[in-house]
Amino acid sequence: MKLRAGLQAMFLALVGAAVLAGLVAVALVLQQREQAQKQILALSQRSMHALASQRLLLRGEAVSEQVADALVNPLYYFDLDAIGTIIGNVLRQPDVSYVIVYDTDGSIVHDGSRDIERYDQRMDDPFASEVVAATGQHMQSNGQLLDVSAPIRVGDQRLGGVRVGYSLATARQDEDAMVAMMQARLDEIARRHLIGVGVLLVVLLALGVIVAALLQRRLVRPVRQLAGAAQRIEAGHYDVVMPADGRQDEIGELVRAFDRMRASIARHDRDIRRMAYTDTLTGLANRLAFRESLDRRLLRMQDDPGRLALLFADVDDFKRVNDTLGHDAGDAALVQFTTRIDAAVREFDVADALLARFGGDEFVVLLELPAGSGTELGPLAERLATRLVEEMARPIEVEGRQVFLGISIGITLFPDDASSAGMLLKNGDIAMYQAKLAGKNGYRFYSLAADQAVERRMHMEQALRGAWDRGELSLAYQPVMRMQDRAQVGVEALLRWRHPEFGNVAPSVFIDVAEQSGLIDVIGPQVLHAACLQARAWQQRFPAAADLFVAVNVSPRQLRGAAFAGEVEAALRASGLAARHLHLELTETAVIGDEARIGQLLAALRALGVEIWLDDFGTGFSGLSHLRRVPVDGVKIDRSFVADVLRDPDDLALTTAIISMAHSIGITVVAEGVEKEGQFEVLRDRGCDLGQGFWLGRPMDAGAFDALLQ
Ligand code: C2E
Ligand code: MG
Ligand code: MG
Repeated sequence: MKLRAGLQAMFLALVGAAVLAGLVAVALVLQQREQAQKQILALSQRSMHALASQRLLLRGEAVSEQVADALVNPLYYFDLDAIGTIIGNVLRQPDVSYVIVYDTDGSIVHDGSRDIERYDQRMDDPFASEVVAATGQHMQSNGQLLDVSAPIRVGDQRLGGVRVGYSLATARQDEDAMVAMMQARLDEIARRHLIGVGVLLVVLLALGVIVAALLQRRLVRPVRQLAGAAQRIEAGHYDVVMPADGRQDEIGELVRAFDRMRASIARHDRDIRRMAYTDTLTGLANRLAFRESLDRRLLRMQDDPGRLALLFADVDDFKRVNDTLGHDAGDAALVQFTTRIDAAVREFDVADALLARFGGDEFVVLLELPAGSGTELGPLAERLATRLVEEMARPIEVEGRQVFLGISIGITLFPDDASSAGMLLKNGDIAMYQAKLAGKNGYRFYSLAADQAVERRMHMEQALRGAWDRGELSLAYQPVMRMQDRAQVGVEALLRWRHPEFGNVAPSVFIDVAEQSGLIDVIGPQVLHAACLQARAWQQRFPAAADLFVAVNVSPRQLRGAAFAGEVEAALRASGLAARHLHLELTETAVIGDEARIGQLLAALRALGVEIWLDDFGTGFSGLSHLRRVPVDGVKIDRSFVADVLRDPDDLALTTAIISMAHSIGITVVAEGVEKEGQFEVLRDRGCDLGQGFWLGRPMDAGAFDALLQ
């Protein structure tokens, strides 16, 4: 807009200024000419006047002289008729007003009239006195009349004189007529002059208009069009059409260059869009593309109701593939998953089904059914989920190895569960999380009640992330005593979380969250290192603790990684703690299942010299017979049995059986949750080796333990 006003306005202003300058110049010239004309007129009038006066004077002189001569005789003889004839001739001249012949006294002898009306009258006009007094030819004028007188003599004798009066008015009339003629001539010239100038001006103006129109057409308009095109391109419309008139000048060049630039920008924009909207690894739509498509569909459904199902799928334990086989293998696995998921989705043949990868191992499928469709969306989504789970159950082959993985899928429906894209995605995520909590490799429909629990959990998971580094996590130590003499032989390291907002969070709660979310993979090794360092420090500082062991709890998840044995070794090396002073407490659930692999791992750990204890023994399903097959160094009788040993004979029997059974295969027995002296005594009498419980010592922080050891 600005450009438009600029060029055009500037140009019009220039033309206007030129025209104005021309007009001023013309006006000046005209004025000048007018003045010159006036001067010329005045000058010629003056010179004409001078010339006429001169000529009249000369004529007057000559005529009066002549008449005076001619009148000598008639006057001498007083021949009035002859006098009358002579002066009548003079009077006939057009500009002669009067001719008077007078005598020496100044009395009129003849005035040219037939009857000589003024005969013998004295001349009483203003010129008369001078005329009579003059001795020779005499001239007088009063502006209206020129009076020329000449004496009439005979020898030396004066007879009288003659006066000829010329009317100057006639002369002036002639003059005026001359001047008027000249004026008319000059005006004519001026008029022609003016017409010439006018024509010139019109031509100039026309030229200006033509140039302006040309400039407008050839320069301003294309520049304006370019500016408009640039604005449209800026707004993201690359389809603007350039004026293609094949001009060979600079503007043509500019337009062509501009068009090339437009094409190039459009190309780049397409590329960038493609890059921004597709997942580079799988070629699927990415999160952004999915989100935009979802938004579009929701918008459309405001007028044209329909139903949507969103399946949020996450590959179970995909991290394991990356950790054990490397990221290239992980990528290869993802590509295979993509092929399978894509094929399954296509099989369902729902119009407008959209599959996207949200990064990592998350895939999202969107199914859409129009309002009138006879198909039920929920069951359809469920069938697809089942199909996907089945598909993923088949092992995939990566780098020559068979990999078994599962998939957890959350399903949420529109408009049933949520009305906005953000909420739908969140619900899908939550439902997926629920599927994971429910044991993975399956699907769950979104439910609000479960959502709240999950939300709390997710919130806690968020809070737990980085808690160790922020110093919110610490270790408490609970003494482990020898039953025989109540000597302190070891400690169990127990994790504590003090959250700035939630306060102290129970380990049973947050350990679970850490395990489910995989955070335990980070926290576990940190606990292991800290506990080993602490135990070693006590050993070095207190002689009484020279043989102190530390028991560290290990979650089942930690055993799954191939790196666990290495981590234990690293912790021992870093702290300088002897392997036999480290006890690892595993739960029964950790050791059942993949027995061959766990057996190998436990054997490797025991080979280091580390002791393996089974925690919470009796609550699992392993049973006593299991102990024979799993290589462990001790069992910790769960405190639920210990709590009732005094009241429930069955529990006492079971506890006794465990002790003797364990002793028969040569492993140590620890009693947990000893809260009363009576419990302690019963267990000691049954031969239980070690004990732990509030009655023997509560968990305390490291500082408190220092005091105890002293
Ligand atoms: P656990 O390994 O069986 O630990 C013993 C639990 O019993 C501790 O609860 C301890 O405070 C409690 N306890 C000890 N004596 C008595 C007693 O006389 N009476 C009663 N009623 N309870 C007693 P805590 O500290 O709440 O830990 C709960 C569970 O959390 C532990 O059970 C363990 O499975 C897990 N845990 C704690 N720290 C860690 C850790 O660092 N890593 C892992 N993976 N799990 C841990
Ligand atoms: Mg324990
Ligand atoms: Mg226990």
